[in-house]
Amino acid sequence: MKTVDFIVVGQGIAGTLLAFDLIEARKSVAIIDVNLKASATRVAAGMINPVGMKRCVPSHNSHLYFPKAIERYRQLEQKLDANFLKLKSILRLFSNKSLKNEWQIKFSNTNMDRYISRFFDDNTFSAFKDANGSAVVCPAAHIDLQTFLDKSREHFKTECLLLEERFDFSKFDPKEISYKFLKSNYIIFCEGFRIKDNPYFKTLPLSPTKGEVMTIRIPSLETFDKIISKGVYILPLGNHLYTVGATYNHTDITDELTSEGQAFLRDKISDILSVDFEVISSVAGVRPTVKDRKTLIGLHPNYHKIGVFNGLGTRGALQGPSLSAEFSAVLLGDQKNYQNIDNQRFTGFFGVFK
Ligand SMILES: Cc1cc2nc3c(=O)[nH]c(=O)nc-3n(C[C@H](O)[C@H](O)[C@H](O)COP(=O)(O)OP(=O)(O)OC[C@H]3O[C@@H](n4cnc5c(N)ncnc54)[C@H](O)[C@@H]3O)c2cc1C
Repeated sequence: MKTVDFIVVGQGIAGTLLAFDLIEARKSVAIIDVNLKASATRVAAGMINPVGMKRCVPSHNSHLYFPKAIERYRQLEQKLDANFLKLKSILRLFSNKSLKNEWQIKFSNTNMDRYISRFFDDNTFSAFKDANGSAVVCPAAHIDLQTFLDKSREHFKTECLLLEERFDFSKFDPKEISYKFLKSNYIIFCEGFRIKDNPYFKTLPLSPTKGEVMTIRIPSLETFDKIISKGVYILPLGNHLYTVGATYNHTDITDELTSEGQAFLRDKISDILSVDFEVISSVAGVRPTVKDRKTLIGLHPNYHKIGVFNGLGTRGALQGPSLSAEFSAVLLGDQKNYQNIDNQRFTGFFGVFK
């Protein structure tokens, strides 16, 4: 038997961040991940956007989450000797004059001037359909999540911390917290939407949302210094390539592309670009979204050594670093009351859904 302090199941953004936090607190960790297709983190575009673009409001806790995310990803870039984070502002194109008006009012009358750096006149950009003008949301950022996951995985492998297999619940003893040849003080499940197959947490109110993203090539536009947003986002990757996303589908949670999803993205791109584009490839993944849009973080009410870190929803890259830091502090015995680790709400799900 090998004994560790923590077993972490799942190496998406949730499991990766939590594993790093625990390791940096000098805890021994074993990570189990099977690298399943349709993992949200592998598919995600990686926008770190502190603003709700529809209503022009700061997203939940963004004044805390955004600086923490930038700081944490920069630290991990150093640790992994990699580059995956880029600060990039967002160009919000307005689809009509009343939307532009709403953004201008919010800029003048609310704290949104902290997030909007400037407005552009109508028809400023020849490559875009910006007849109703645009605004720049700043700061914002882009994280290349594939590189982040790959570099982290490489690191975990080199340190012999990673077990590449599907977690087999029939080999798990919840009283001993033992799994095959591993024995641990805690086990934390970070399986994204696949928590629906987890016997300990399948009653949590996860309501997964499938998303499709596309990579396109814009021959006449080598790159652009901002992420473009109007219904969907168009994210510059360099060398004429751009990621476009995303769709939202609550009924189909397969990793198959759909003709409706692809047509939706093409229509939206045509509504943004006034120049030609070609589709290079597309992928689909499933977001671990929750009915009440709050994360699912805590320990099982009946098995106090079994925990879950899930429900990062549509903004995993933004909120992941703060929430991982809070949860690891709780796991390490910090008694402070963290607003996101709300045990009463969390354990309530077991009473209601058991
Ligand atoms: C199309 C799309 C676009 C998105 N765009 C953005 C964006 O721009 N910005 C943003 O912040 N967020 C975005 N998101 C949301 C973001 O991707 C999620 O919030 C985040 O990735 C969730 O991470 P996770 O670690 O909880 O889950 P996942 O990334 O799904 O990771 C779960 C991991 O657990 C493993 N696993 C599962 N079951 C088992 C098992 N039984 N045994 C072993 N391993 C297992 C899987 O292999 C996987 O590696 C997007 C999501 C999608 C789908």
